Amino acid sequence: MSQMTPANGTDIRVRFCPSPTGNPHVGMIRTALFNWAFARHVGGTFVFRIEDTDAARDTQESYLALLESLRWLGLDWDEGPEVGGAYGPYRQSERGDIYADVAQRLLDAGHAYECFCTAEELEAQREAARAAGKAPGYDRTCRYLDHAARDARRTEGRPAVLRFAMPDQDWEWDDMVRGPMRFGREHVPDYVIRRVNGDPLYTLVNPVDDALMRITHVLRGEDLLSSTPRQLAMYEALADIGVGDGVTPRFGHLPYVMGEGNRKLSKRDPESSLAMYRELGYLPEGLLNYLALLGWSPGDDREFFDLTEMARLFEISRVNASPARFDLKKCTAINGDWIRTLSRPELIERILPFLQDADLVADSVTALQRSILDEAVPLIAERLEVLSQAVGMLGFLLVDDADFVVEPEQEEVLAQPESQEVVAASLSALRALEDWDGEAIQMVLRTALVDGLGRKPKHAFGPVRIAITGRRVSPPLFESMAILGRDRCLARLEAAQRQVG
Ligand code: GLU
Repeated sequence: MSQMTPANGTDIRVRFCPSPTGNPHVGMIRTALFNWAFARHVGGTFVFRIEDTDAARDTQESYLALLESLRWLGLDWDEGPEVGGAYGPYRQSERGDIYADVAQRLLDAGHAYECFCTAEELEAQREAARAAGKAPGYDRTCRYLDHAARDARRTEGRPAVLRFAMPDQDWEWDDMVRGPMRFGREHVPDYVIRRVNGDPLYTLVNPVDDALMRITHVLRGEDLLSSTPRQLAMYEALADIGVGDGVTPRFGHLPYVMGEGNRKLSKRDPESSLAMYRELGYLPEGLLNYLALLGWSPGDDREFFDLTEMARLFEISRVNASPARFDLKKCTAINGDWIRTLSRPELIERILPFLQDADLVADSVTALQRSILDEAVPLIAERLEVLSQAVGMLGFLLVDDADFVVEPEQEEVLAQPESQEVVAASLSALRALEDWDGEAIQMVLRTALVDGLGRKPKHAFGPVRIAITGRRVSPPLFESMAILGRDRCLARLEAAQRQVG
């Protein structure tokens, strides 16, 4: 079987070709990322194609979400929607005439045939194969119909699908990830390429577009492994009828991603949803960094790198064939490390939309809010793993005083007599304090609570923290109090004092 390897470098063309159904998920993004990195590594072309020939399942909303997601992630494409290119259009829904023409030519050349078998007949065939202990698959009844028999079925008005006529041979390829692969002919039956209603199927449109778009390397998920022998055969047929340039792409199948409980991560698992990562405030840099590690590594122990570095280092030979485990904790930790690479102004810019969504910051940020953020964001950067956590951590500084509330569980702590003693002592100490800065606050509180009340530091400041921040855990207390300012701090302690009851 012929399998030419195209030239190196700029001739290399890869594609990411999702179907726009549902929401973008991480498995899909991993595939996009690996194709992108491969193309960038070799200076090739990254084609983005939309496989939207299934009108019943594809949606415009999902199409737009795909584009927007790739843009958000920074995975730029060289050809595709909104960008154009020499082989467009890049939405399969706009390429119907091409598929109709290719299907007809495959039929005319004998690479495809009409199949009139009904669902019941097909079921009976499957039964018979099972009973005979043979691999299931179409028994080729219609492939060998003579003209008369075919005409008779047409005259009866029997609807026909179009089936591809598989050549009688076994199929082999050298998978870029998995090494030598082989499928016996019995496992690759004649398959449907066009529905009764004339709609072309994935089995046709995907290899046709790969051929027409001069795709040289196909990197895709392992779930598509069994499509490859069919597509190898289709390529040969397409070359025979002059569709494309006759080059069969090289195939590489990316390993499965395993989720909880050692089963495949499913699109429906919450940790699959790209939207979830965006809502929680993962950085595109952090998420991509983690997804890169699902089956690939730079070759040393390094687990922290950006897209440019990944593109520089990405060798397909380093993609691992064994399943990758999806570890949300690790993904989150890497994201936290990414957050800590951001400069203060950059981190503030990224946090702002979350604070605005939570109505803590006005759409046009006020000078006061800006100065609070300037001072407070460095206090939380160390502990931030995802941007949305900033809402909880900074809320007490930004919230209107009228809206400030203590968390219900902390109310109870605050109401205890020991807490009330702390609050009262803090109030009198702080009222007397002239220089309102973190160090001075710490000093007078320490004197009043640790020395004065004889509390252990651990217990001394808890009630103050609750009164000031409303929470048990907060950014560093004394600095926070300095930022919040004298009046607001005293007012909150006074409010806390009135909560006895
Ligand atoms: N549209 C197909 C999918 O989303 C593409 C598969 C392929 O890469 O060949 O599964």
